[in-house]
Amino acid sequence: MNHNSPRDISALLEELGAGLKKRWGQNFLISGDVRTRILDLLNVEAGANVWEIGPGLGSMTEELLERGARVTAFEIDWAFVRFLGDTLGARFEQFRVVQGDAAKTLVEVQAEQGSPEYLLGNLPYSVASAIVAVVLESGISARRMVVMVQRELANRMVAGPGTKDYSAFSVLCGSRARMRKAFDVTPGCFYPAPEVVSSVVEILPNTEHEISDPVLLSRLVRELFSSRRKTIRNNLKGSALAAEYGMERLIAAFDATALETSIRAEALSVKDFVRVANTLAG
Ligand code: SAM
Repeated sequence: MNHNSPRDISALLEELGAGLKKRWGQNFLISGDVRTRILDLLNVEAGANVWEIGPGLGSMTEELLERGARVTAFEIDWAFVRFLGDTLGARFEQFRVVQGDAAKTLVEVQAEQGSPEYLLGNLPYSVASAIVAVVLESGISARRMVVMVQRELANRMVAGPGTKDYSAFSVLCGSRARMRKAFDVTPGCFYPAPEVVSSVVEILPNTEHEISDPVLLSRLVRELFSSRRKTIRNNLKGSALAAEYGMERLIAAFDATALETSIRAEALSVKDFVRVANTLAG
């Protein structure tokens, strides 16, 4: 089939008895140029172990396999899982597809076989941030990851302190990895065309931050961003963290790192958040 032809995609979906499922963000990439740019950015060598999230009908998967990669694909839609098994599975020995919600199956496969060398995904919009969070929080690491997400989410992934897009999610991303927005992709490059612009983000390892207690860091960041307009001190007041640690100990952790609690969370760098959480962890 021609992966760039909406007509071929529609015909195949009909043959498979698979209607397009909006809730699973099934917008297929129909631009060969964009596909090549994404795969060139991922830049895998023959024999490399690659995970692909949401392979759909396998347009990028096929090219990865042709480039000699060993691919494990994570797909929720049974119709696509069967199709990929019958086609790519029959042609390429080094292909495996895992059915289920990637937010769960990624962690299960990581427990069995460790992290991949590369990770790729044209992620479904509705669960893209949840999937990126699972990857980063469960410690799935790779030499390079390339994901396509809605542009607004990409902006949050790469945002720095003091900007409107800087959020708890930006701190999660910046504390675990180095993020770079590579390029935007217009709605016309997909079938069906979404209402939003997408962006391709490159995610590279980051060993800059030693995090003593990742769960504590996540809780602290979420509490401090819970009301963006409030100061750090006011966000902490009445929080679950204050109930557990006491306000005095929380304030002391900021004092120890020479940070004021009269400012807003958006003024703190990723490094500041990590230092406070590490001090609190003791
Ligand atoms: N990779 C294909 C492409 O670029 O044309 C399809 C990308 S489409 C944006 C997203 C894919 O993710 C769909 O195949 C969809 O069924 C799958 N998907 C949606 N939610 C998922 C989940 N929670 N876990 C795994 N796959 C999911």
